[in-house]
Amino acid sequence: MRWVKGWEMPIAALLYWACARLGMALFALQPSNITLLWLPSGIGLVMVLHAGWRALPWIAVASFVANFSGMAHAAWQWQVVHTALAALVDMLTPWFAARQMQRHLPRGIQSTSDCLAFVLRVCVLPTVFSSLALAANLVIGGYIALAAAPDFVQMLLLADSLGILLVYPLYESMQRKGAGSALKKRNFAWGMALVLLFLFLAHTGLPQCIYLVIPVLLFMVFQSDTRYVSWALLMVIVVAVSAASLPQGPFGLFPQAARHQMLVAFLFSTTVTVLWGLYSSHELESEQHAARNWERIAGHDPLTGLVNRMVFAPMLAHEHERARRQSGDYRYAVAMLDLDYFKSVNDQHGHAVGDQVLVEVAQRMQAFLRGMDIAARYGGEEFSILFPGASAQEACLALERLRDDLEHNPVRIKGFHVGVTISAGVAEYAPHAGSADSLLAQADTALYQAKQAGRNRIVLAAI
Ligand code: GH3
Ligand code: MG
Ligand code: MG
Repeated sequence: MRWVKGWEMPIAALLYWACARLGMALFALQPSNITLLWLPSGIGLVMVLHAGWRALPWIAVASFVANFSGMAHAAWQWQVVHTALAALVDMLTPWFAARQMQRHLPRGIQSTSDCLAFVLRVCVLPTVFSSLALAANLVIGGYIALAAAPDFVQMLLLADSLGILLVYPLYESMQRKGAGSALKKRNFAWGMALVLLFLFLAHTGLPQCIYLVIPVLLFMVFQSDTRYVSWALLMVIVVAVSAASLPQGPFGLFPQAARHQMLVAFLFSTTVTVLWGLYSSHELESEQHAARNWERIAGHDPLTGLVNRMVFAPMLAHEHERARRQSGDYRYAVAMLDLDYFKSVNDQHGHAVGDQVLVEVAQRMQAFLRGMDIAARYGGEEFSILFPGASAQEACLALERLRDDLEHNPVRIKGFHVGVTISAGVAEYAPHAGSADSLLAQADTALYQAKQAGRNRIVLAAI
């Protein structure tokens, strides 16, 4: 989006103005600049979060231009004054909301408890002040009667908070990366189709269908690509508010005066519910991600990147059980491998070089193994290897190649060569071999024999 650089504020101000005009055209009450949904409140917040105080004049101008015609007054000077006052309030509210955001939620909405703080401190609190100020401006200007002011305050409060509630999560979702699975995309499409169907039915004679939109949105929150749920929510609100004047709409049974309040209260609570779900779904996702990360860290050796005993042991047990079940038709081999005289490598070259040697040996080991073989760092300079489906001879062959390679190609570290050899013991599954651990013990005994016999060799365990 490089082309936007430098043009962000004029474009955002234009969007502010367009959404204000669209709001007045689609969902206006009287006077015409009081609407059921005021998206500019959210756009203003995003503008201030993005550009700081530099956004304020743009917001004031956009608000003034958008509101001027709706504030018609007998004397044009008063029209200017009251529109300017409204613009001042429209400018200060997102500034206050942004301050609240920076103070209480500096990292954005990260959890469900942040969601509550967002609703109360960022959406509702600033709009309480702005709706009181805007209603006072309308009463003083003679646009509405004092008796009507409480209703207007309530309407402004819900419409302005709804604007923030809808726009800010959209802004955050646009910054979220990652691709959803095909299943999640399909679920999203199904959810959208159902939401549209229920909205249509709710406005064509089955008003109760409006309540079915909530579970479908929640299904989308937990089972679909969540990056688009805020857009779906915005669409639901825009459709519901645009169709508010239809007599057969979901709240058409209520008297005229209560209809809009019922609708906006319903939409406000739906939005809060869905956002709550959305952020708890994000929280769950990031917890699962962290748990997977910890699991990976706990199961791997940080030096060589190989799995450790914690991961190796159940794999070995699983392989053993498989061989036992298929009595005679399936086999596997296991090896214990140890670096020869490794202590003297450390003593001669230092521990850091010793570490590098371990890393290089682990890399070469994997190069000589099949993709399905599992090499683990058993501890220190000892490794264990599982050869699924392989005979002891096949395992010996692979290890012999590795031994030969290490013997003839010393490890090169920082320009000098470090010669290192390995010894290993190999054991193959046999029906009478006992447990997986005893097979590993046989391989270890064979390793001991290899050491005794002079090192740098592979020994097959006696069956
Ligand atoms: P042998 O042929 O009998 O196995 O002799 P060795 O010297 O390899 O055996 P010993 O058990 O006496 O010493 C093992 C050495 O491995 C001692 C220890 O410092 C070293 N070692 C174990 N883990 C690490 C490690 O993570 N990094 C480094 N650099 N050295 C390690
Ligand atoms: Mg050793
Ligand atoms: Mg050792």
